[in-house]
Amino acid sequence: MISRHVSRFQTAFPVPISEKPDSAITGPPGATSLWKLFATSFSGGRVEFYCGSASKSYRTLRHVNQPRSLYIHVPFCAHRCGYCDFTLVAGKDHLAEKYLDALSLEIDRELQIHGDAELATQPKPEIDTVFFGGGTPTQLSAAQLKRLYAIVHDRFQLTSETEFSVEANPARMTDEKIAVLADAGVNRISLGVQSFDDATLTMLERDHRRADVFGCVDRVKVRIANVSLDLIFAVPGQTLALWESTLQTAIDLSPTHLSTYGLTFEKGTAFWTRREKGELPQASDDLERQMYEVAMEKLAAADFHQYEISSFARPGFRCRHNQVYWSGQTYFGFGPGAASLMNNERRQNHRSVTTWLKKVLAGESAIGDVEKLDPESRARELLVLGLRTNDGVERAWFQETSGYGLNDLAGETINRLIEKGLLEETGSTIRLSHEGRFLADTVAGELL
Ligand code: SF4
Repeated sequence: MISRHVSRFQTAFPVPISEKPDSAITGPPGATSLWKLFATSFSGGRVEFYCGSASKSYRTLRHVNQPRSLYIHVPFCAHRCGYCDFTLVAGKDHLAEKYLDALSLEIDRELQIHGDAELATQPKPEIDTVFFGGGTPTQLSAAQLKRLYAIVHDRFQLTSETEFSVEANPARMTDEKIAVLADAGVNRISLGVQSFDDATLTMLERDHRRADVFGCVDRVKVRIANVSLDLIFAVPGQTLALWESTLQTAIDLSPTHLSTYGLTFEKGTAFWTRREKGELPQASDDLERQMYEVAMEKLAAADFHQYEISSFARPGFRCRHNQVYWSGQTYFGFGPGAASLMNNERRQNHRSVTTWLKKVLAGESAIGDVEKLDPESRARELLVLGLRTNDGVERAWFQETSGYGLNDLAGETINRLIEKGLLEETGSTIRLSHEGRFLADTVAGELL
């Protein structure tokens, strides 16, 4: 819903992927670059999961193919914000029931379920993390959210340990919807706050205001204590002082998790056009860098541990779902624009909501593009994604997981990046240096 915007220090990944995943590989929908594809908002949970470690619970690329993570893209919003290029339809809530019809058909097709009788008897795939992203999942009515949950529940086995995240907009999060989500087992809410300054929210063309956020957080926490907030910096007109105050207000609300993203101008958006016409002044690189730096300092001081370029969590509340992407594990993705990773293929659904609806309702495949991933490509992706995390990439784990030694795969490049001060090696682990976090795109570009 909001969270996929990453800073221009972090984007610009030179790998063309069929469609633009936003929710990413969060299964997701629509990103133009691999970096973005994997830069989602998935978050929350009690079990820490270290990408770079050889933890016993870790399922390696070589050992596990059956996805245990599920992303559902819900492509509805009240209107399209000026900077947003996600897969969605704005002001078309009348399509929601059709969307739910199509979603169940798409999942049944993928799981090869033929009819209700089989659905009732077929063993359900067990799922560790579920993420409803968008769009705005909470744009659905309470009854439609119930139906969405039933579609998932009828086809997948969720357990008491499953991390179940839903993206929400502070503007329309009614008590009834909160109750439906909590009753369904949702245990993590990712709120698209973006700013606590009404002028900044107006600039972003958001449809909520500062006051909406406070009431919403209070009401959500009554039922779902694990709340993550998304914030955007480098918004035209936003000063460093204003950004610091936004961070402080967010900290004061005591969320479990925060995600911060630098505003990006994506081709095809209203913001892109306005900037081209000189109507929208883009924040300077210097200011954006200062804002990111301040976020890292301020959040660390408030006991939010940065565990990925854009993600900060209280102890025990890293987003398990996002970590699935960053650690190269397989996942299901359903809904328009959603991506799946399995069988060494990345499958990307049609990004146009109407095309996706038409195809699925006609009994055809939802998939618009299939990218075959050879072992070396997967290994390079794993390296680049792992470097997004502050834990970095541990050599033995990488070899075990990808089948490639880091030196054989990219030894010279890694050494050069270490010499440039963009990567650092501690023991047997490679990670981005502090400077490297500002130039993550450059690092990624050299390693892919
Ligand atoms: S709320 Fe705005 S930014 Fe979020 S998905 Fe909808 S249109 Fe995009």
